[in-house]
Amino acid sequence: MKDTAKHQGLRNQLATLLEAKGIDDQNVLSAIRKIPRHLFIDSSFESHAYQDKAFPIAADQTISQPYTVAFQSQTLAIKPKDKILEIGTGSGYQTAVLLHLKAEVYTIERQHELFKKTATFLPKIGLKPKRFIFGDGYKGLKEQAPFDKIIVTAGAPLVPKALLAQLKIGGMLLIPVGQKSQIMTLFVRKSQNEFEKQELGDFAFVPMLEEKN
Ligand code: SAH
Repeated sequence: MKDTAKHQGLRNQLATLLEAKGIDDQNVLSAIRKIPRHLFIDSSFESHAYQDKAFPIAADQTISQPYTVAFQSQTLAIKPKDKILEIGTGSGYQTAVLLHLKAEVYTIERQHELFKKTATFLPKIGLKPKRFIFGDGYKGLKEQAPFDKIIVTAGAPLVPKALLAQLKIGGMLLIPVGQKSQIMTLFVRKSQNEFEKQELGDFAFVPMLEEKN
């Protein structure tokens, strides 16, 4: 688990690239410069860690593209102490960015292998979400609701009603919606029954699946 000056240099380059692609939240860029993404993927593929690409991890899943992670984090305008529900822990890289932004993170993963791996790994590098949950993100996390923000990092065929219902008034749900490719969609809860919806462009994610595995 080494992090060298060379890794740091590659991270600085990646942050510069993301800035050129339109990421301007300095706290998000600082997270990209700080978090050792190479430790989140298999060490034999370390050379891929600082390219702006998604990459396979365990259980047929992928670590999201750095641009996507930065875009979702920037869009949600994460503030210290924000109570956040993350659906799709995966490698934990997006979780790490949220923690760097000092949010309180509850993160759910449906693949047991990944859940176990990431719940063991993140604390080893000093990162502690409020809770790791092995479960089905379609249901959200009712016992901890309401949340300031909910981030979904898998492609959802539809918008789960449970997630909208678990937002605070003024809270935001950011979810990629679609089957083959997804439209990044932001919902802001205006009142008990009103949500404002904004579409923020095309992205590609692995599918959000039902039930645990
Ligand atoms: N942000 C993660 C993305 C991982 S890919 C990263 O950068 O590593 C999406 C993850 O969502 C996968 O790990 C997948 O198993 C998980 N997932 C898919 N459907 C889910 C569901 N219903 N509930 C919780 N996790 C889910």
